[in-house]
This record gives sequence, structure tokens and C-alpha cells, in this order.
Amino acid sequence: MAEKGVAQVWRKIRAIYNIQGNICKTCDTHFFPPRLVCPNCRRKGQLEDYKFKGLGNIHTFTIVRQAPEDFKRQMPYVVAQVELDEGARITAQIVNVDPEDVEIGMRVRACFRKITEYGGGGLIVYGYKFEPVLKVTGHPYP
Ligand code: ZN
Repeated sequence: MAEKGVAQVWRKIRAIYNIQGNICKTCDTHFFPPRLVCPNCRRKGQLEDYKFKGLGNIHTFTIVRQAPEDFKRQMPYVVAQVELDEGARITAQIVNVDPEDVEIGMRVRACFRKITEYGGGGLIVYGYKFEPVLKVTGHPYP
């Protein structure tokens, strides 16, 4: 039954990796994080789960040069508001790029990285980060 246990762990990890939001089927608006009520349609809104593709452009960004203890090793790092292709905006760290090379409008895609680790080998928290598409694929529009 060991294999079944492994499969369950992977299913859980995939759920964490997905950028899970929702969409209002009435007005076709995407939300992240998911909303309970569509602000446009209120009670007429029909919300359904939606998994974002993880592609978008940098809308705004900031270079963090002062960070809490857990993040000091990574300084300086970039935190950006990414406008996903579906229209929702998400705040995330931008990785695999020199902070000086980050620009507004840069094409990025979600990747998944360990964010922090508690108590030396205890709980490890994973989350989405974004990286430039150009750097990975050599092509700006995959
Ligand atoms: Zn709606």
C-alpha cells in the first residue's frame, strides 16, 4: 500500500501547486483568490472553480532589499503584481532573473519553489513564484 500513499501525497502537492481561483460564468470574470460572490453579478453570478494557466505579464514590481530573517539569503529579490492572461492579478516573487533586468510588461510564467522551511527540516511550505518566459524557452510567447 506504500504506492497508494505516495500517490496521495502527489495529489496533495499538485493541489498546492495549482493556481486555483474561480470564474463567474455569468460575466466571464476570473478571480484569484477565489471569491464567494461575484462583485459584478451578486446573486446572479455562477461561480465555478478555475485553474489558471500561470502565464501573464508583470504589471508592477518592487525590489526588496530589506527582508525578514527567513528571506535574507535571497536578498535582493523582486515581488511583482502579475496580470494573468485571464485578467486576474496575483502578487508573487519573481525568480531566475537579475532584479535589475525585471521590467513592467515582462512575460512571466508560474513555477513552484520552496518558500520557507520551519524548524530545520520540519514543515516545508511550497508556493508559486514566477519566472521570465524568455529565459526559460528562448521565446517570449509560448
Ligand atoms: Zn459575474
